[in-house]
Amino acid sequence: MYMQTKSSNYPARLNGELQGFKCIRCGHNLPVDDYQEGCPQCAGSSEPSSLAATYGKKFSPAEWQTAGAGRGMARFGALLPYRDFLTLGEGDTPLVEDRYLAAQLGVGELYLKNEFQNPTGSHKDRMSALVCARALDLGGRPVVAASSGNAGASVAAYAAAAGLPCTIVTTQHVAPTWREAIEITGANVLYANDAKARWLIVADLVRNEGYLSATNFLVPPVGSNPFGVEGYKTVAYEMHEERPDGLDAVVVSVARADLMWGIYKGYRDLIDAGLAARMPRLFAVEPYPRLSRVLAGEPLAGDFPGTTSMSSIGGSTVTYQAVDAVRGSDGGAVAVNDAETDAARQEMGRRGFYLERSAAATVAGLRKLLARDELSQNSRVALIATSSGYKDPSLT
Ligand SMILES: [Zn+2]
Repeated sequence: MYMQTKSSNYPARLNGELQGFKCIRCGHNLPVDDYQEGCPQCAGSSEPSSLAATYGKKFSPAEWQTAGAGRGMARFGALLPYRDFLTLGEGDTPLVEDRYLAAQLGVGELYLKNEFQNPTGSHKDRMSALVCARALDLGGRPVVAASSGNAGASVAAYAAAAGLPCTIVTTQHVAPTWREAIEITGANVLYANDAKARWLIVADLVRNEGYLSATNFLVPPVGSNPFGVEGYKTVAYEMHEERPDGLDAVVVSVARADLMWGIYKGYRDLIDAGLAARMPRLFAVEPYPRLSRVLAGEPLAGDFPGTTSMSSIGGSTVTYQAVDAVRGSDGGAVAVNDAETDAARQEMGRRGFYLERSAAATVAGLRKLLARDELSQNSRVALIATSSGYKDPSLT
């Protein structure tokens, strides 16, 4: 069993309004607990599914007003599973307009949501803060993540700050930048032979050693820790603050689509509360057709292999939450290859934005969506810049 830590002085106050979790596919309701393997009713079916937090009190305009105090994701505590949690300053990333690129691409308005301005340089910090809050609330449970990139560096940093034992399961191919960012936190690093072998190690730590996993470890996958995924709602909340009259589309690179689903849920909250008039169409950008094939009718639990230099969005699987967010928002999926992404990355560099490949992929994806007339020329579009180019500086 795990060792309990005594080193944390940080509060982790559960939101009293948190009612439980609900399966996003079958609607099964469950009390507040840790469901690390998704919906028990859908487990083992051809469409395993994730769970989403439910709250007793309906999200109201009044709550939205009080949510505005302070800075960063912490100010949305009334709308998250934890009202108080360890923060390293995540959230409140800017939505930056790029008029030149909008004109060049032939789109009405274009914004970049600069998630690389989070403490460890990616959107994953929004998840890590809540996963570590959960681990602290459980008395100091050790946390684990399967990652060779952004999630590993983020979870390791937040666990270190919280005084939680942490294991990051990666592969021998992990880039030196990531290796150092993870190792410097003091996290225990395990090396698996390949990406899927990592998940077996995490599954063992969760099932036999009492670990709380931040990331998915199942095949077929269900997505990341449901407490953590709630953090991604705040990306939608912040974009709504800056563009209260709405966005026509949000383009986001996906692997298992935790971020895209969180954005979807965030906008749904805003619409249900009468704060937003419309749901932006959510477009998933992927390195080779996976979600695109499932949307075209192939089975969700299929294997869709491919190779890519976009390390943050690799993998051969599709999640139910990805399908749900795209269908529920009348969005879509588009695949872009390495050459298209590298060209977009160069182009964005010349615009002053040094992006990781997976983030630059959204620019290449948007170009294709416009060429296919899936988005009209006068659309107002936000691209999610998940992380910066400092993270993956060279092709190996
Ligand atoms: Zn279910």
